[in-house]
Amino acid sequence: MADGRIPVVWSDAHVDHAPTLQAIDGVDYPHPEVPSRPRLIREALVEADLADLITADPYDDGVVDRVHAPAYRQFIDEACAELAVEEQLTPAGVSADAAVLSSDSLAVRASYFAFGTDAPLMRATYRAARSAADVALTGAVRVASGAPHVLALCRPPGHHAEHDRMGGFCYFNNAVIAAHELLPVGRVAILDVDYHHGNGSQHLTYDRRDILYVSLHADPRWAYPGFSGTSVERGSGEGEGFNQNYPLRPGTAIDDYAATLSEACERIAAFAPARLVVSLGFDTHADDPIASFALRSEDFARIGAEIAALDLPTLHVLEGGYALARLGESAVSYVGALP
Ligand SMILES: [Zn+2]
Repeated sequence: MADGRIPVVWSDAHVDHAPTLQAIDGVDYPHPEVPSRPRLIREALVEADLADLITADPYDDGVVDRVHAPAYRQFIDEACAELAVEEQLTPAGVSADAAVLSSDSLAVRASYFAFGTDAPLMRATYRAARSAADVALTGAVRVASGAPHVLALCRPPGHHAEHDRMGGFCYFNNAVIAAHELLPVGRVAILDVDYHHGNGSQHLTYDRRDILYVSLHADPRWAYPGFSGTSVERGSGEGEGFNQNYPLRPGTAIDDYAATLSEACERIAAFAPARLVVSLGFDTHADDPIASFALRSEDFARIGAEIAALDLPTLHVLEGGYALARLGESAVSYVGALP
């Protein structure tokens, strides 16, 4: 936009989803995915005069159910309603056995809908996760109409969320839900620049040729989620060749990152999509407490400029990023580089 501002979609419906602990191997750790994350970004963008704020519109549950199993969405809805206000429910584990659904224990039943124990449920979680999908959809509708760049400040994040399993702080896959909203306009590319591989986004689009998934992320040999993200994962069936992973080594700094991003953008340009969805994680920052890349706040301008050079109407969907003191300035660098 000529004035430098882009539409920024937000909602405060997530703030009571505030898990304080995550369990790793049965030990509780402070939870980094905190409610202030999107607010810090929003405030910095407003301060820098880069944002036209838009509140999210509500959408029917059907938009979630076309990506996730309805039984999964309904489980989260009903489980959250059973919890006390401050209660935090961690799945007892991970189970593929439907017999666990008859357990008296909600934590055991939750293990059927989880692939890890780091996406706890609270009473406010369902509303938060649904509102995050609404934030993404509100942005997607504008991008479908041709808006050049829209930022959707989704929280909780989404790219780890699988068809019927939560994990990695994620419940509903906001980026893939948005991609489906954009499909009537034409083919969609998802470019995932979060530090972590978007296992959910990959799996939800793996057998499709109308959604290209391209991801730059920390090599799964060293980083979460560990079970996906290698370069040999290329799609299946008619989606063969429409999934592209670029695993990167720990300590990756901007020059190597930008060279790989340039390759990824060439792949996207060759696909010639009608619309682009960026899964935007700021956990590639050197100061991120749960990641090990070496990008600086100003480097996000180079990333934004490279993506903008694709010249595609683009929805930027917030994923991770946990260095609270760096989120605002990183987002200002990134959005400031968009035309
Ligand atoms: Zn991440």
